[in-house]
Amino acid sequence: MMESHYDPREVEARWQNTWEREGLYSASPDPSRPSYVIAVPPPNVTGALHMGHALNGTIQDSLVRWHRMRGFNALWQPGYDHAGIATQAVVEKQLRARGQTRHELGREAFMAEVWQWLEKTGMTIMGQFRRLGASLDYSRERFTMDEGYSRAVLEFFVHLNDRGFVYRDNRIVNWCWECETAISDLEVIHSDVDDALTYVRYPLADGEGHITIATVRPATILADVAVAVHPDDPRYKQFIGKDVIVPVVGRRVPVIADEAVEPDFGTGALKITPGHDPVDFEVGRRHGLAELTVIGFDGRMNADAGDLAGLTEEEASERVVAWLKEHDQLEKRESYRHAVGHCERSGTRIQPLVSLQWWVKMDELAAPAAEAIRSGRVKFHPPVHGRVALDWLEAIRPWNVSRQLWWGHQLPIWYCPDGHHTIARSTPDACGDCGSIELTRDPDVLDTWFSSALWPFATLGWPDKTADLDAFYPGDVNSTAREIIFLWVNRMLMAGIELMGDIPFHDVIIHSTVLAPDGRRMSKSLGTGIDPLELIDAHGADATRYGLLKMTSTQDVRFSPGAIEEGRRLANKLWNVSRLILQNAEGATPKLDPTSLEERWIIARIDATRVEVEAALTDYEFAAGASSLYHLVFDDFCDWFAEAAKPRLYDRDVALIGTALAALERLLVLLHPVMPHVTEEIWGQFHDDRLIAATWPEPDIRFAADADALSRVQDAATTFRRSAVLVPLEGDEKRIFDAVVRPERVKASGDADAERARLSKEISRSEGMLANEKFAAKAPADVVAAEREKLERYRRELEALG
Ligand SMILES: [Zn+2]
Ligand SMILES: [Zn+2]
Repeated sequence: MMESHYDPREVEARWQNTWEREGLYSASPDPSRPSYVIAVPPPNVTGALHMGHALNGTIQDSLVRWHRMRGFNALWQPGYDHAGIATQAVVEKQLRARGQTRHELGREAFMAEVWQWLEKTGMTIMGQFRRLGASLDYSRERFTMDEGYSRAVLEFFVHLNDRGFVYRDNRIVNWCWECETAISDLEVIHSDVDDALTYVRYPLADGEGHITIATVRPATILADVAVAVHPDDPRYKQFIGKDVIVPVVGRRVPVIADEAVEPDFGTGALKITPGHDPVDFEVGRRHGLAELTVIGFDGRMNADAGDLAGLTEEEASERVVAWLKEHDQLEKRESYRHAVGHCERSGTRIQPLVSLQWWVKMDELAAPAAEAIRSGRVKFHPPVHGRVALDWLEAIRPWNVSRQLWWGHQLPIWYCPDGHHTIARSTPDACGDCGSIELTRDPDVLDTWFSSALWPFATLGWPDKTADLDAFYPGDVNSTAREIIFLWVNRMLMAGIELMGDIPFHDVIIHSTVLAPDGRRMSKSLGTGIDPLELIDAHGADATRYGLLKMTSTQDVRFSPGAIEEGRRLANKLWNVSRLILQNAEGATPKLDPTSLEERWIIARIDATRVEVEAALTDYEFAAGASSLYHLVFDDFCDWFAEAAKPRLYDRDVALIGTALAALERLLVLLHPVMPHVTEEIWGQFHDDRLIAATWPEPDIRFAADADALSRVQDAATTFRRSAVLVPLEGDEKRIFDAVVRPERVKASGDADAERARLSKEISRSEGMLANEKFAAKAPADVVAAEREKLERYRRELEALG
C-alpha cells in the first residue's frame, strides 16, 4: 500500500541501509563483465560534506548507477586523504586550547593524539555520502595513511629515487612560520595589504653617484646580493657591471642586467634578495648569486642579521629605515597597496624563504602524461581544462615533496654523521655510503599530494599484484574540482603511467563550482555556505541530487533553491502517478502490449527520452539529462499518458494496465541513476527484486513512428486553453482530448474566426522574422530553432481549425 503523501526521510534511510546491507554497492573482480571504475576524490579526514562534494558525489553516483544497470562491473572506490597540514592544524589548535604545543608533547605522543582525534571526530564524510544515496563500495574504504597505502607511498618515493629523480636542494618555498612548514601554492591565499614602499639609495662603489631602488621589505636589504636592471633600460645602461654598496651591511654587490626586471615598477632598479623572494631567486640562479637569508623559520631575524637578530621583520624594517634616514640614503616612503600571500590555515603572511628541501625532477614523468592529453587518450570535460592541464605539464617544474610537518608519511631518508643519506623502504642497518650505523631519519613528511597521486591504484592494492588491480585498473572517469587539476589530476596521470604503465582514467570531468545564490563564494566564514545535509533533511536526497544536476553547466553556477524544489515536485509527481496506476492494477503484471494511440505514444516517448538521457550521461551534460527526465515525467507521463488512460484505468482494462505498468517500469529505470530512492520504493511496490540491479532498457524502436502521434491533440489543447476554441478531432484523438482537457469543464465559447485571424497574423510575423537575414545570422541557434518550432505549431493549429 502506498502512502498518499511521499515522505523521503524514512524511505531514503531505509533504502540506503538495504542496498548496502544486501551488498548491492559492492564490486568484486569478474572477468566476464567489463568494469566501470571511478575513485572518489578522497576528502580530507577532517572535512564535512559541502556543496562541492554533494554535486560531485551526485555526478559520480549517477554515472556509476547507470553503468551498473547497463551490466558493467561498477566500482566506486571510497576513502579519505590524511590532509597533512589541515589535520595537523586542527589537532594543534586543540592542544593550544589545553595550553600545550606539539613540541612539548613530542612526535610520538602527538601522532597518537591525531589518531585518537580521527577515531572520535574524523572520517565522517563517508557517512554523509551515504545520506546522499552514494553507492560507493564502503567495504573497500581506504585511507592514505593506512598500512598498505603507506607502503605504496614509500615504494613510490624509492622508485623515483631509483630512477634518479630525487634530489635535495635549496629552493625558495612558501614558508608559514606559524604552521612551521613550507606550503604549496594552492594553500596560499592572496589578499591586498597596505604597505609602505621605501625608496633607498645604494651608493656606487666607485663614489660616482647612486642607484635608487624601491622595496616593501627593508629588513631584507641585509640579504641583498645584487641590484638588477632591465638590459634595455637607457637610464641604467652605464651602471651594468659596476658595484654598489648595500646599506646597513656595507656589502659590495654587482649591478646586473636581467630581463625579469620590470622597468615600470618603482625606479626600474631592483634589489636582488634570492633568499627571500621567488623572482629574485630565479634571477640569482641565472647569475650564480649567493642565497643569503636573514629571516629564520620562526619568522624572526636570524643570527646573520647581526644586531637585528631576534627582532620581528617589522621591527627590523623600522631599524633599517632609521639607519637609512640617519645616513641620508632614504629618498622617500609612500603608501603602497598590493596583493600579498597569506597562509590559508593561519592567515599568517607568507615568508618566501630559501630552505633545504627534497625535490623530484618531473620532466620525464610529465612527458608521457602530456602526450596522453595531446593525443586525446585522456579527455577533459569541458575541453578548455585539458589545455590548462597540458600547459602545466609542458612547463613542468620540480616538485617540492618535503613538508616540515609531523602528520604524514615520514620521508624514508636516513642520514649518517658524515652527511651521507640513504633512501630505503624500511630502516636500513647502515649508511649506504660509509657503513656507519649511527643513522637519523629525516623528520619531515611527504607532501599530501604525493600520496594522493597513487589513489587510483594504491586503493586496489599496489604495489602488490592483486586481482583487484587486474580487474579495476585502468579506471574510467575522474570527476573533480577545477582547483586541483595540477595538484592531483595531472599527478595521477604521471604516477599511473610511470608505475602502472597506463593512464588511470580516460575522462576527466571538471564540475561547476556552486556559488552562493548572490554569486559570492560559498564559505562558512563568509556565512554564504549552504549545507547539503540541510537540503537533504528538508527536501530529500533525490530532490537534492536532481537539483544539483539541473544546476550544472560548463561554467560556475549560482545555487538555485528553485532547482531543488523542482526535484521535490518531480519526486512527488512520480509518486502520485505511480500510486494512481498501482492502486488500479491489483493482481496485474507488467506486459508491454500497447493497443491504443496513447500507449504506443508513451512507449515511443520513453524510448526517445532514453536516447536523450544516454547522450547526456555519455557527454557529461547532466543538466540536459535532468531536463529530459523532468519533461518525460511531468508532461508526457503524467499530464498526457496518465490522464488519457485514466478512464480505462478506472475500468480495470487489463491490457491497458499491463502496458501502463511496463511503461512505469521503464520510467523508473530511466530515473533511477538520478533519483534512486523514490524509484526503488515505487519499484518495490510491484517487484521482489531491486531496481538498483535492474537492467537498463535496450533500444525499442517498434513504436518510434508514434513519437509525435499526440501532436494534433496537444496543439488542439493549446488552442483550446488559450482561446476556448474547439478544434474538430475524431476517434482516439477526440477521446484523448476529452480525457485530458475535459472541455465539459470549460465552455467552448471561443470565436474560431478570431482565432484563425490571430494565428494567421502570428504566422506572418514569424515567417517575416525567420526570413530576416539579420535575425538568422545574429540570434543564437536555439532562439532560431525555437522560433521555427513556434511557426510550425501555428501552422498546425491553423490547419487543424480547418
Ligand atoms: Zn600557516
Ligand atoms: Zn655515511
